[in-house]
Amino acid sequence: MVNEKRLEFFKSLLNEQMKELVGEAVKTVNDMTVTEGEFPDPTDRASWESDRNFLLRIRERERKLITKIGEALTRIEEGAFGICERCGEEISEKRLEARPVTTLCIKCKEEQENLEKRGIP
Ligand SMILES: [Zn+2]
Repeated sequence: MVNEKRLEFFKSLLNEQMKELVGEAVKTVNDMTVTEGEFPDPTDRASWESDRNFLLRIRERERKLITKIGEALTRIEEGAFGICERCGEEISEKRLEARPVTTLCIKCKEEQENLEKRGIP
């Protein structure tokens, strides 16, 4: 079981990441608002469109990560943090430090990736 002190550590780590992501997301939205409505010629318009798509993609990724961080914080509250949701084994501290939002131990993660490679969900 991950001890209380470690939980506090992961909690503040996750909160920090969350704050950063939300800050980035807000910045992205502001950038888009500033750029919008200013494309004097079609070439500029095209590059603006691709920029915008790029920003939207980043936002999508950020949004997913924000959701994951939220779920990890919930697991900390529920005492389920650091437990693999597939096999119920403890996830190694090293793995949690590298990726605190993870819900799978390294063994299950590898199994899942192998299945995905073979096209099995
Ligand atoms: Zn597992």
